[in-house]
Amino acid sequence: MSPRYDDPNAAPEPLRQDKIFLNSVDVNNKEEWLPEWLRARGLSRERERATELREALRVLVLANNGLPLEQSAVEIVNRAAQRVSLRLDADGHVDFARDGDALDELVATVLAAMLDGSWQRLKACRNCYWSFYDYSPNRSATWCSMQLCGNRNKTRAYRSRRKASAT
Ligand SMILES: [Zn+2]
Repeated sequence: MSPRYDDPNAAPEPLRQDKIFLNSVDVNNKEEWLPEWLRARGLSRERERATELREALRVLVLANNGLPLEQSAVEIVNRAAQRVSLRLDADGHVDFARDGDALDELVATVLAAMLDGSWQRLKACRNCYWSFYDYSPNRSATWCSMQLCGNRNKTRAYRSRRKASAT
């Protein structure tokens, strides 16, 4: 169960949950942990919706790292956002209603983070697509953790070498 999901620079809660969700796949090495993420939340039947949402969110966190934003991803997140509503909490402050499933919860967290500005710090590495939280003072981090990124690319290089020599 390898270097999956989280890393030393965990995002603050609850945004950390979005980061964990984004990192339920190792894009480079085609390792997929989404089924167990869904199973743990009683959402095994929502694989298609979850995959679509996850990859749309990845486009958004890549955009936080300077890559172009794709409108198809915006549309997917907008559709998901329709399942989330606003309400006042007991103190009269506006908040997202948190009575949907775990995927709705993730979307509510994304929207709340966009409003409070912390969303800009959730990024995906340009090199390995792993999601990381940028703690740098001027939000200038571009890569995920050096060690993990290097390992992921080494695994990829090893696999492609092996594939090449097998043909
Ligand atoms: Zn990386």
